[in-house]
Amino acid sequence: MNVAVIGAGGIGSPLVRGLVELPWVDQIWVVDGDQVERSNLPRQPWYDEASIGSKKAETLAQVFGARVHPMAVRVDRTFPWPPCDLLFDATDNWPARLAIAEAARSQAIPWIFASAVRWEGQSALMRPDGPCLRCLFGEELLEGPRCFEAGVVGFVTLAVAGQALELADRWVRQPADSALDRLYLLEGREGALWSVGLPKARCSHGIVQ
Ligand SMILES: [Zn+2]
Repeated sequence: MNVAVIGAGGIGSPLVRGLVELPWVDQIWVVDGDQVERSNLPRQPWYDEASIGSKKAETLAQVFGARVHPMAVRVDRTFPWPPCDLLFDATDNWPARLAIAEAARSQAIPWIFASAVRWEGQSALMRPDGPCLRCLFGEELLEGPRCFEAGVVGFVTLAVAGQALELADRWVRQPADSALDRLYLLEGREGALWSVGLPKARCSHGIVQ
């Protein structure tokens, strides 16, 4: 099965590290236009001093081998999506996340929503015949802060990446498992983990043009 990870930062880099070890994963595309900065190193340990200034996607491909294909660009609506069975959202902004959601729906493949802002993390499997982001969050989602503006706590990104990997692995092994139809939430300051059921019906929002 081929996957793409959009974003190679605090969530995306540990995701790639986990994906290369999962037996059902074949090719992994990593999409991120950013360079490694010194401030990334404490929370993104797959980068080091020598990778500062290099493209994150290309560095991960060097570290994790030939199955990891870098695309050092930013996702937008003209992005040439590689042929994938599953997309991972590890972005830090809603416009990119919406582009991922629309690409997944138009290709009728699922995607994994994974988000971390400050002390809060969220993740969910988004099925092509299930609810969309607008069903979950309404139009207000477009106004949310980006993590680089709001800051993010390191262990929250690692926990969200781990949850996203677990959702993907469960989807491959037990696609009808009802545990997949939930939004998983983490509040790091209180140490709280919980989940809420996703709406059952397919939404009527369609693909936003
Ligand atoms: Zn919807």
